[in-house]
Amino acid sequence: MTNWTQAKGPGDSPKSNAITDVACPFCGLVCDDLEMVRDETGLKVAKNGCEKAVAGFERKVDGARPQVDGRDVDIETAIRAATDLIRKSSLPLYGGLGTDVDGIRAVMALADKSGGVVDHALSEGQYRNFRVLQTTGWIMTTLTETRNRADVIIVVGSDIQKLHPRFFERIVNVEQSLLTETPAKRTVYFIGKGLDQSGVKGPRIGEVITLPCELERIDEVVSALAAEIKGTPVGADSVAGVPTADIRALSERCKASAYPVFVWAPPSLAFPNADLVVNTVSDLVKDLNVKGRAAGLALGGNEGAISAGAVCSWQSGYPLRVSFSSGKPDYDFTRYAIPKMLAGGEGDLLVWLASFTPDLGPPPASIPTIVLGTPGIKLNGTPAVYIPIGTPGVDHGGRIIRVDNVVSLPLRDLGRSSLPKAADVLAAIELAL
Ligand code: SF4
Repeated sequence: MTNWTQAKGPGDSPKSNAITDVACPFCGLVCDDLEMVRDETGLKVAKNGCEKAVAGFERKVDGARPQVDGRDVDIETAIRAATDLIRKSSLPLYGGLGTDVDGIRAVMALADKSGGVVDHALSEGQYRNFRVLQTTGWIMTTLTETRNRADVIIVVGSDIQKLHPRFFERIVNVEQSLLTETPAKRTVYFIGKGLDQSGVKGPRIGEVITLPCELERIDEVVSALAAEIKGTPVGADSVAGVPTADIRALSERCKASAYPVFVWAPPSLAFPNADLVVNTVSDLVKDLNVKGRAAGLALGGNEGAISAGAVCSWQSGYPLRVSFSSGKPDYDFTRYAIPKMLAGGEGDLLVWLASFTPDLGPPPASIPTIVLGTPGIKLNGTPAVYIPIGTPGVDHGGRIIRVDNVVSLPLRDLGRSSLPKAADVLAAIELAL
C-alpha cells in the first residue's frame, strides 16, 4: 500500500551538499549537467542552470493540501472523490499531461479503463510536426549530431532562446567536437524578425545573419529558399521584405556546407498554415541530401510533451489525441483535440495533469475538473478535486524523453518535498475504479 505521508526533505540525502550531473526536466533539452546545492532554505541551482531551471528547481511547494470542492481533505478522500467522478463520467478528457514516462503510462492505463480521451496541452504545436512526418516523412538529426557535425545552423522563425535558454550554449557554441581537434566556427542564420539572438555568442560562433521577415510570412521565404535550392531561381527582387539575393546566398551556403541543420520549435510557429513551413523545410532538406548532407532539428517538447507522445504511440499505436471510448484506441487528431472538444461541449469531466510548471493550468471548462497539479498551478476556478503532485526530477525520481526522441534520461529525486508521484495517484484511482 502506498505510504502517502512518507517524510522527506532537507537532511534525508545526499550526504554531500553538492549534487552533480542533475538532469533538468523544465524544457525538452533535458540538460544533464546541472549542479545543485541544498541548504536549510531549500534547493539552489549552483551551476549550469538557466532562468527556467532556477524557477523550476527553486520554487517552494510546501503547504499544498488536497482539496475537494475547495475544502482541504486528506489524500485518500481526494482520491476517492476523483474515482467517483471518473466512474460516473461517460467521456472523461485527460488533458495537460505534463508528466514523465511513468505518469503518462498511468494516464494511458486509466484512460483505457475509463473510456477517456488523451491529449497533451502542447499537442497543437507537436502536430505541426506529426502531420509532416505522417504524410511525407523527413530527415531529422539529434542534439548530439548537431553539436558535433553542424557547420551552419538555420533557425526558422522560432524563439529558441526563450523556449530553450541553453540551446546555443550547449549545442552550438561548444568548444570541442568528437570529430576534430580544431572545430571551425559556425554560421548561424535567423529567418524571421525579432527573434532573441542574445545566446548566440562565444568562440565557436562565426557570422550571425538575419533574414528579417514577419513571422507570418516565413512560409514565403522558406518557399523561395526551397526553389533556389531546387535550381529554380526566384524572379522577384525581394520576398516578404527579404532581398532575393540574401535568400540566394543562403541557398548557396546550404549547398556548399558539410552539414547545415534547420532548427525550429513548433510552439513558435503559431500562425495559420504553419505546418506548411515545416513541410517546406522538410522538403528542402531532402533536396539538399540529393548531393550533400543536411538535416532538420525540431525543438519544443516542453512540459513532458515528448514523453507523452512517445508513450501514447508505443502503448496505443498512435500519437496523442486518442480516444478509448469505444473500448479500443481510436485516433483522430482533429476530433480528439481536447480544446476543441471542450469548446464543442464534448466530454463530461476534465482530468488535468501538470507536474512541471504552475503555468500549465487547465483551460476554462463548463464541466467538472480534477486537477493533479504542482502546487501553485494557475486555476480558473475551484476544481472539483485538486491533488498536489510532485515534479519528476525534483520531488521524486522518474524518466523523461528528450526533445530529439532518441534518449530517455533518468530524473533524480532531489528530496524537495514529500508530494506524491502522479503515477502513484493515478494508479490508486485506477485500482479503485
Ligand atoms: S535549457 Fe532547458 S533543460 Fe537546460 S537548464 Fe534550461 S530549462 Fe533546463
